[in-house]
Amino acid sequence: MTEEYDLETLAVRSGTLRSQFNEHSEALFLTSSFVFESAAQAAARFKGEEPGNIYARFTNPTVTMLETRLAALEGAERCVAFSSGMAAILATVMGLMKAGEHIVASRSIFGSTVQLFSNILGRFGIETTYVSPTEPEDWKRAVKPNTKLFFVESPSNPLTEVSDIAALAAIARQAGARLAVDNCFCSPALQRPLDLGADIVIHSATKYLDGQGRVLGGAVLGSKELMEGVYTFLRTAGPTLSAFNAWVILKGLETLSLRMEAHSKNALELAAWLESHPKVERVWYPGLPSHPQHALAMRQQKTGGGIVAFEVAGGQAAAWRVIDACRLLSITANLGDAKTTITHPASTTHSRMTAEQRAFAGISDGLIRVAVGLESVRDIRNDLARGLEA
Ligand SMILES: *Cc1c(COP(=O)(O)O)cnc(C)c1O
Repeated sequence: MTEEYDLETLAVRSGTLRSQFNEHSEALFLTSSFVFESAAQAAARFKGEEPGNIYARFTNPTVTMLETRLAALEGAERCVAFSSGMAAILATVMGLMKAGEHIVASRSIFGSTVQLFSNILGRFGIETTYVSPTEPEDWKRAVKPNTKLFFVESPSNPLTEVSDIAALAAIARQAGARLAVDNCFCSPALQRPLDLGADIVIHSATKYLDGQGRVLGGAVLGSKELMEGVYTFLRTAGPTLSAFNAWVILKGLETLSLRMEAHSKNALELAAWLESHPKVERVWYPGLPSHPQHALAMRQQKTGGGIVAFEVAGGQAAAWRVIDACRLLSITANLGDAKTTITHPASTTHSRMTAEQRAFAGISDGLIRVAVGLESVRDIRNDLARGLEA
């Protein structure tokens, strides 16, 4: 199944493989290896002369179904699935780069990605320069002769800053570098970076692709040529997605469009209410006209997505009061779940940054991030109102 179908249809039906039993729902293939019909077939499979499964570190039919479906949703030639989003990010670097090369990355990316780039890749001779996600000119200035990768998340965490993906793609192309977009916050239901000129899309499938907080997973998508090195790393090093997790995520994709619409609708309503609340100093939500990149977001994304950040007066004490007054919302750092989650970034996800780094990134002590779920928005609002009005 290809581009001739709409995204909603592809999310439900693309990539399905049927076994000899002709099952309707996608099967979970729990097997670590596959049997050959002859010694000659085994040899042909190992040589790559005949397509087919060999060993589940390399491929598994359930994982293949997920990869095919996700590739259709992102409009990519090929998808390689991983055991987590971080494994997908590591494999992207390992597949495409070598020692002595350079990354230009947004300063507003997932905390573990910063740790990976700065503390681990630095030891192997890959250097990273961090720049503003919203200033394409800064990316142009940061380019060096050895720059091979641009890395961005849009919208960013937790402030939902929106990057101009087409502009960054053009700068990367001119520099002879590849643009990788971590599309975790939007999913392909809201944003397709490859259509905007990006070379690579990365997912933490742990978030909206699963959508119900059950399993870890990751994926890298792009051209067949770029994915060859990424797949070779997977096959050799083994950060393989389990068949069970692939099956859970595959079934999660069937409701992706519906969920992203509902997350966005709830988030927009909540953000508008927060913006009018006297105890709230500021709200960041790409779907609100007050958002600094609202026009760009509405061009680039179908809707504003499910993440809302807001700042309360009174710093950490006030923010913690709002969080501790919640009876419904879950206090957890995860996101992309049917259950609404609430986080204090300064003391949790971003606590490893210095106070100056946090100030530079705009993460104040009064900042709260809500990953809006699928409950009634009235109930979510009432839960937050209790702490705000205390
Ligand atoms: C969670 C997350 C990751 C890491 O994914 P894991 O599945 O936890 O390894 C990467 N990028 C973003 C934007 C995330 O939110």
